[in-house]
Amino acid sequence: MYDPLVNAPPGPHDAPGASYWQLHTQAEFPQCADAPEDVDFAIIGGGYTGLNAARTLAENGHSVAVFEANNLAWGCSSRNAGFVMKSTGRLGLSAWAKRFGEDVAKGIAQEHGLGLRLIEKTIEECPEHCQRQSGGYLKVAHKLASVTPLQQQYDSLRQFEQPVEWLDNSALSQVIDSPQAHAALRFTDCFAVNPLLLAAATARRAAKAGAQLVEHCPVTSAASLGKKGVYLETAKGNVRARKLLVCSNGYTSQQLLPKLASRSLPVLSSIITTPPLSQEQADSIRLSPEYAIMDTRILKYYFRLLPDNRLLFGGRGAIQGKNAEDPVFAKRLLKAMHQTFPQLKDITQWDHFWSGWVSVSLDDYPRVGKFSDNIYASMGYCGAGVSFSALAGQRLAECAMGAALPKLPYYQSQLKPFPLPKFRRLAQWFYYHYGRLLD
Ligand SMILES: Cc1cc2nc3c(=O)[nH]c(=O)nc-3n(C[C@H](O)[C@H](O)[C@H](O)COP(=O)(O)OP(=O)(O)OC[C@H]3O[C@@H](n4cnc5c(N)ncnc54)[C@H](O)[C@@H]3O)c2cc1C
Repeated sequence: MYDPLVNAPPGPHDAPGASYWQLHTQAEFPQCADAPEDVDFAIIGGGYTGLNAARTLAENGHSVAVFEANNLAWGCSSRNAGFVMKSTGRLGLSAWAKRFGEDVAKGIAQEHGLGLRLIEKTIEECPEHCQRQSGGYLKVAHKLASVTPLQQQYDSLRQFEQPVEWLDNSALSQVIDSPQAHAALRFTDCFAVNPLLLAAATARRAAKAGAQLVEHCPVTSAASLGKKGVYLETAKGNVRARKLLVCSNGYTSQQLLPKLASRSLPVLSSIITTPPLSQEQADSIRLSPEYAIMDTRILKYYFRLLPDNRLLFGGRGAIQGKNAEDPVFAKRLLKAMHQTFPQLKDITQWDHFWSGWVSVSLDDYPRVGKFSDNIYASMGYCGAGVSFSALAGQRLAECAMGAALPKLPYYQSQLKPFPLPKFRRLAQWFYYHYGRLLD
């Protein structure tokens, strides 16, 4: 599998990566365009971020082209679990308040709410409403010792007037039957979708606004020419643009933009799905497709029952791209699934197994804004970007058009460089072992 720290940019014809969504969804993407030679704004990456940025720029009357290395949404935007959460990065609101003060935490909460509303608007325009499941997102205490910290998080979220609900052991046992579910925090306004339908709906909105979407067109070099804008080499010819928006996130090749890529750790998140559960199996775990669930581990697992009764179960994957498809990582997820639901121990094989690259930042939160002369970038969502990417794309476009962004840490500083970036993977290996011990 493509590895951003090792390989040149992906494309132009890489396989989609066997995601359940690609194989089971009829998604209607818009007609793609030829590569232009000249454009106001060029965007690298045709996932949620790039497509939302393109729509915003086109709606404001600018000429804009999105260059996607493979099919539109080939990266995380067609591979994720479809949890639409009101967060990004790894900091909760109380952590934001502790680091930057209450006003910043309130501003962050507002931005997250805006991200959610942007997704809802896109979903409204999709005939199937992206197969929305509205039961909420549940953060589940996987062991007794996690209950008190989770309850503290609940108290703090209520102080920030967030729509959350506390499910004690007895209430939670109506929703899920698992020895690793002791209590839960329910985010009542969060939901789950089919991520590929969301990507297609986002692309249709961008195309309708007038954005040119160019598929199978990796950008192979990018340089700023100062006052003359930027110059790109692509698989379909050379392009001049006034400004460049880098929206390749976890898929950003170290070889294309080394200074930017050194500020992100690309991490593989992996998913398996079971074969469709029998009614008896589904009843035994008591889970309904309405809910999107994540646990409280350091190395988190997340799962949901899909509308066709397959159980989707995800967590961390391999460290290097060359090992991404090794069945050992699917087996680890299966084992974790058995620990969560011993009732499913007879399921010994998965139907689908796939992975994608998420971008992890050094200090646990993303950055959106100007990176260098004529170059703007948004990355570092740390694996939580379905709803935030809609907002990030819009904010990045606003910044590139010269608007002032809200005075929040997402927008007012740059991603921190990793010290000794060559050793990022070694640090990741140690972190995985440390996390496994604690979990
Ligand atoms: C397995 C998995 C599960 C996840 N589950 C969730 C979830 O449930 N909820 C949630 O909030 N988040 C989840 N995420 C994270 C979420 O999917 C991402 O944060 C989000 O999709 C990022 O969108 P993006 O547009 O920024 O990047 P991507 O969708 O990754 O798009 C980047 C694109 O850039 C393209 N590209 C790269 N280099 C070039 C180049 N040189 N030229 C042209 N194109 C290029 C790539 O082909 C790729 O399509 C998950 C991620 C994974 C991998």
